[in-house]
Amino acid sequence: MEHSFIDEERLQSLLDKKVTGSTEVKEILAKAETLVGLSVEEAAVLLNIDNEEDKNLLFETALKVKQKIYGNRMVLFAPLYVSNYCSNNCLYCGFRMDNKEMERRCLTIDEVKDEVRLILEQGHKRILMLMGEHPARSSFDYFLETIDAAYSVRDSKGSSIRRINVEIAPLSPEEFKKIATKKIGTYTVFQETYHRATYDKMHPSGKKKDFLWRLLVMDRALENGLHDVGIGALFGLYNWKFETLALLQHAEHLMSKYSIGPHTISIPRIEYAKNAPCAENVPHPVSDDDFMKIVAVLRCSVPYTGIILSTRESPQMRDKLIDLGVSQMSAGSRTDPGGYSADDSARDHGQFSLNDTRSTGEVIKSIIKHGYIPSFCTGCYRRGRVGKDFMDMAKPGLIKLHCQPNALLTLKEYLVDYADEETRKLGEALIEKELQEIPDEARKDATVKNLEKIEKGERDIYF
Ligand code: SAM
Ligand code: SF4
Repeated sequence: MEHSFIDEERLQSLLDKKVTGSTEVKEILAKAETLVGLSVEEAAVLLNIDNEEDKNLLFETALKVKQKIYGNRMVLFAPLYVSNYCSNNCLYCGFRMDNKEMERRCLTIDEVKDEVRLILEQGHKRILMLMGEHPARSSFDYFLETIDAAYSVRDSKGSSIRRINVEIAPLSPEEFKKIATKKIGTYTVFQETYHRATYDKMHPSGKKKDFLWRLLVMDRALENGLHDVGIGALFGLYNWKFETLALLQHAEHLMSKYSIGPHTISIPRIEYAKNAPCAENVPHPVSDDDFMKIVAVLRCSVPYTGIILSTRESPQMRDKLIDLGVSQMSAGSRTDPGGYSADDSARDHGQFSLNDTRSTGEVIKSIIKHGYIPSFCTGCYRRGRVGKDFMDMAKPGLIKLHCQPNALLTLKEYLVDYADEETRKLGEALIEKELQEIPDEARKDATVKNLEKIEKGERDIYF
């Protein structure tokens, strides 16, 4: 009989785990800096920090950990929604079946290609493909076709999508075996809430009612041919400390059973969505301050994991969270099927409202100004550095040797092919500066040569 690996009682008992004094916090943070990760108990102490001094120390440590593992690159991607039909009724989502005002749409294969072309023209190389769960209107086989279609598109520069990540409803073992043949990157599903009673309340009907089917989805994925999985919780449904600790328990479970932790953790906060009662009236709102703690504690606790932020957050918040450990973010997003092709005034069927509506170009400029390298790298996945191999490199901080130069090479491509004049100047200056930071001389020389090749027209070079 399948059962939950979430120990609710233990997590509840940790929610007010009091800090016994700053020494304990300092010891835990010193441990985090060595990149070994933290236990659920240690993370609970950090989540309960209640004074400025310890909080600042936590934030500084999170940044150090991120820099040690990934350097200062920020991976960018664009979401692509192919269908908003859904037979579930999640109380927080605009796609829910009972939202009769939503205009429903499932893109044709040609429409998918049009969307991908527009995403490519923004400079993106990595997409996250999503849809609602409606086997009759947007079947699993249809979704497989959209993956092939998306990979087949070339834009005016001859560029194509290099990595497709997927976020669709939990699959069966047979479906995982099929999708594993499609060269997808990470497969992601958010548990929404790990709190059983809240989960049952939030999902009154449809297949998503089944808590365990969703909770064990990554076990099925890893047992049936996938290597990189992404987890997440929708913050605002239940106590934020409980969800953060449960995410860590999920990571521990995967690590101990498969030696593969989550490749990414996503931390969406509920945004307003029309006709979705729990998005119009969020049951457990998470303040900006607490949200920053969530990011910093996750970064210290599972240092090898990518932390993903979406355009649900405002530009100001996104800037703050970059410094606390976020390593991937979406840019220029549309959350409605056909949204990239549509005239802005005609769009009203997004899944939820966005707080960062800047174009990809604007996001890139601001990341560079912030001193980070916008990266379109897809090197790991294409070189086969996935699953346990990736974890083995990421844990001791070795992945940076690839991330940093690859970020520079993909930024260079962006600057030559898509950037405006101001961004080009800012970007070239950043590349010059960052080249000096590559510790290995041979890697630095190879990077300089590859940058020259890109300037001359070669593309898609990576370590
Ligand atoms: N239908 C699939 C599913 O539920 O797993 C695919 C993903 S759904 C399109 C993407 C995610 O959006 C959901 O897992 C949920 O966490 C998030 N989401 C739904 N409503 C939201 C809202 N109002 N604000 C922020 N995120 C929301
Ligand atoms: Fe459907 Fe997913 Fe939205 Fe739930 S979260 S209503 S399953 S699209």
